[in-house]
Amino acid sequence: MWTMMKGRRLAAPLMLALALAGCATPPPEGDRPVALRFAMDAACGRDLAGIAPVPVQVRDARLFVSEVALIDRAGRAVPVTLDQNVWQHQGTALLDFEDATQGCTGTPDLNDRITGTVKAGDYTGVAFTIGVPPALNHSAYEQAPAPFDLTAMGWSWQAGRKFIKIELLPQGGVQRPNGTPTGAWNVHLGSSGCKGDPVKGETVTCAASNRIPVRLERFDPARDVIDIDLKALFAGTDLTRDGGGAVGCMSGPSDPDCTVLFQAMGLRLKPTVEGGTDGGQPLPEGQRFIKAVRP
Ligand code: CA
Repeated sequence: MWTMMKGRRLAAPLMLALALAGCATPPPEGDRPVALRFAMDAACGRDLAGIAPVPVQVRDARLFVSEVALIDRAGRAVPVTLDQNVWQHQGTALLDFEDATQGCTGTPDLNDRITGTVKAGDYTGVAFTIGVPPALNHSAYEQAPAPFDLTAMGWSWQAGRKFIKIELLPQGGVQRPNGTPTGAWNVHLGSSGCKGDPVKGETVTCAASNRIPVRLERFDPARDVIDIDLKALFAGTDLTRDGGGAVGCMSGPSDPDCTVLFQAMGLRLKPTVEGGTDGGQPLPEGQRFIKAVRP
């Protein structure tokens, strides 16, 4: 039987079957596959280490990444062409660190890597953007391909997607300014101040882009991991209290809890001058919660 199956005649149908299964498309000549691994020290049902004086668990931990590139020795960013799958569509990927168990409310599946192809070369760094490009951001969820069909990552009141959705549950809850306790401290980052309804075919424009550029100069794609450090993200934030506005920070320019958080994310919370257009643009000093680590 084995001898028969080993026959050459099976090779073509087998290739076809693999191609149909979507796993055998060879990269174009000169390109090579690349897999970027991400890490976040956040598992559902487990206390996050050293993030607050009280135990804190995660309820949601997902983010969108786009504009992925590797940096060569000359400092040039060479784009990575992302594979097309349920996590990745047209160059944008969803990372998912929650599995819907033990207090988490998302989806059972996890995704900690981005896969694609890149021109063969000698790469020493990586660059990407946290966020969804405008053309993909503002579309109706129902008709959108995965991963943009997740209503939980949608942000209907801003006609787009949440670029980062991290929701944390401190033991004892979150104290609001009016004294009412509530369960979760939320980070919802996304383009804000948006006008236009994509469902009606209107063009959506937003006052604040709120996309985070990340550039890690020392990164070996074959060995290193891109660490999303929640301790660094929430340094200076008291997760047991909310200062006003939305509980936590939902990108509101006047939310007091966004001030420190936006600094960690390397984003300008408000325009430099009133009526200015640089609100939601990157700060020159950059983000400080994502770094390359060698496992
Ligand atoms: Ca708040």
